[in-house]
Amino acid sequence: MHVKLVNYTPDPERTCAVAAYASTHEKLDDEMFKNLDRKRVERVLRNVISRGHLSVIEHASFTFNINGVSRVLTHELVRHRIASYTQQSQRYVKLGEDSYVIPDSIKSKPELLKKYRENVESSFKLYRELMEQGVPAEDARYVLPNATHTSIVVTMNARSLLHFFSLRCCYRAHWEIRQLADAMLAEVKKVAPVIFEKAGPPCIRGPCPEGKYTCGKPRNDEPLFASAKKKR
Ligand SMILES: Cc1cc2nc3c(=O)[nH]c(=O)nc-3n(C[C@H](O)[C@H](O)[C@H](O)COP(=O)(O)OP(=O)(O)OC[C@H]3O[C@@H](n4cnc5c(N)ncnc54)[C@H](O)[C@@H]3O)c2cc1C
Repeated sequence: MHVKLVNYTPDPERTCAVAAYASTHEKLDDEMFKNLDRKRVERVLRNVISRGHLSVIEHASFTFNINGVSRVLTHELVRHRIASYTQQSQRYVKLGEDSYVIPDSIKSKPELLKKYRENVESSFKLYRELMEQGVPAEDARYVLPNATHTSIVVTMNARSLLHFFSLRCCYRAHWEIRQLADAMLAEVKKVAPVIFEKAGPPCIRGPCPEGKYTCGKPRNDEPLFASAKKKR
């Protein structure tokens, strides 16, 4: 899985903090977007986020380049509607090589792994055979498995990302999208550490809301969520 933050709103935390001042100032000086003191930026952001005034952090957007993930994952990912997506087309891109995800639960069982590989690779073989005989890629792709690799560019604003991390960094989420969410969180923490300091599954901020479905394994001791613990 490749996950890289490739672009984002310049100076994302200052942009959001100054935007927050719009509600209390008669007018904003443009220069504030460049030079508002960092300590004030942090104070304003912590204040608005803790009070749930999250529209302010919609002013910061983050774009990720993601590849080497399965179609299973992207099907789950695109359910998050407050985002923009551009995904590799299986009509325009003819998949040349057998490129697919193998879950660890299968990797660890040699007999099953062999069957899994044979099954997936025979689907790819048929896919190529269909196209060799004139079937268009848009039809040949029907035989490809859910495991098939895909690539996608995703842009989300910080508010939508906080929601996404809350749902998808949770152990209740499917492992592959959880790996993606963890990797995306690690990326945005580098450029917006205050906005994302408490980002992650609900168990790092308080009790698990899953009731009888709880996994019972709070993630709050993991390094990725250390900043949330510090500030609790
Ligand atoms: C562990 C787990 C298991 C899941 N299992 C299933 C499953 O079995 N079947 C299945 O179909 N899905 C499943 N999902 C997907 C889930 O139901 C959501 O579609 C997905 O998590 C996106 O969440 P969202 O709608 O909150 O996010 P977004 O689409 O990003 O929306 C963000 C927020 O915006 C608001 N919003 C967006 N659109 C609307 C709207 N039209 N009306 C009102 N408010 C809106 C809501 O407050 C929403 O929470 C699962 C998700 C998880 C995390």
